[in-house]
Amino acid sequence: KSFEDFNLKRELLMGIFEAGFEKPSPIQEESIPMALAGRDILARAKNGTGKTASFVIPSLQQIKPKVSKIQALILVPTRELALQTSQVVRTLGKHLGVQCMVTTGGTLLRDDIMRLNDPVHVLVGTPGRVLDLAARSIADFSECPLFVMDEADKMLSREFKGIIEQILAFFPATRQSLLFSATFPLAVKSFMDQHLSKPYEINL
Ligand code: AMP
Repeated sequence: KSFEDFNLKRELLMGIFEAGFEKPSPIQEESIPMALAGRDILARAKNGTGKTASFVIPSLQQIKPKVSKIQALILVPTRELALQTSQVVRTLGKHLGVQCMVTTGGTLLRDDIMRLNDPVHVLVGTPGRVLDLAARSIADFSECPLFVMDEADKMLSREFKGIIEQILAFFPATRQSLLFSATFPLAVKSFMDQHLSKPYEINL
């Protein structure tokens, strides 16, 4: 299998090869075609497996750069992971004209409001701040087609669960959801049952 087999945009393939990726890792081989086919995904994946690119590549493929709206939300538990993830979006999406913004607690809300005046296609953030932006109608998810959650176990097992459900309520019912988690505790399973639609499960 090679990245060429996924029928990706040429500009996206360029970003992938420039990042030094030669062929898809096992999790990418499974998740990318399923995500591109529009399926919800629940993947058990540890760090170091290439899981970030497994959701970033199908996200980037589906974004329309000419549409100045948030077209993918990537929720992560920490600011550090948000910054790392946005770096992957920027590297792989370098030739696509896709704008990515990071939003987390511990920064000025005012700065986020300013930055959201410019086009943002991918928003990477932590739950509290993302909910704040949605609840104040600063970020509009009402037509956002893609909801991604990394380290879902870390977020759903803790105080974030209610916050995440409130964020999801701002999304259209027809959204696609991609969930990545190192472990599958009950909290993740019940979230999957309630909020995902016939998810394709990946267990590597
Ligand atoms: P992750 O599991 O997303 O934290 O990725 C772990 C590391 O693997 C990162 O340094 C990525 O840049 C790298 N990586 C991801 N996918 C590939 C690939 N297909 N080929 C080579 N390296 C990759």
